Amino acid sequence: MNVMNTQQAISELIALGKWIGAKGWVPATGGNFSIRADDCFVVTASGFDKGALNNKCFLNVNSAGDILNGNGKPSAETALHLALYELSLDTHCVLHTHSVAATVLSRYIKGDVFSVSGYEMQKSLTGYTSHQDTLSIAIFDNDQDMNRLAQTVRDYFSNQSHKLQHGILIRGHGLYAFGQNPAQTKQHLEGLEFLFACELERIKLEAAL
Ligand SMILES: [Zn+2]
Repeated sequence: MNVMNTQQAISELIALGKWIGAKGWVPATGGNFSIRADDCFVVTASGFDKGALNNKCFLNVNSAGDILNGNGKPSAETALHLALYELSLDTHCVLHTHSVAATVLSRYIKGDVFSVSGYEMQKSLTGYTSHQDTLSIAIFDNDQDMNRLAQTVRDYFSNQSHKLQHGILIRGHGLYAFGQNPAQTKQHLEGLEFLFACELERIKLEAAL
């Protein structure tokens, strides 16, 4: 992909934030977004409504998380964004959301993986061509020590049988969706959120029977 400069990255994230905010997936200043730009990582500063971002809501950090410039404080969750970029050079955008579906479903599932098959919308995720395939998204226990959580994620994906694609869930917390560019990441986010919402509805209906 064409690597963006920081101003292009900021413009992309403002537009994505507006769309994500309208979906209700970043309540109460929750969530955070980032893009791998040409000479740094552009990340959202903490404490802002991610649905109403402006040019002053961003920082540039290096791969170690050191602030190069910008305003405010990077989110503590920046460490997890940087781990995802470190794990794959193909990752150019990370969108972290706190939707009801991702929060509840990741608590309801006791295991370490969200797996589904049978949904046409699995095809919204890169590499999937059939509803008959099984889609798996890893779930990690939440941790207020983000550096430790980032290390757990690094360790998990250092196992080659664990494929880093589309997103990861943090239990009782939310989703980190990622992709090779902002448009693909948005599609992964929307596709996964749709599947989470479907599974939540299915589980509720089956429990009521
Ligand atoms: Zn979060």
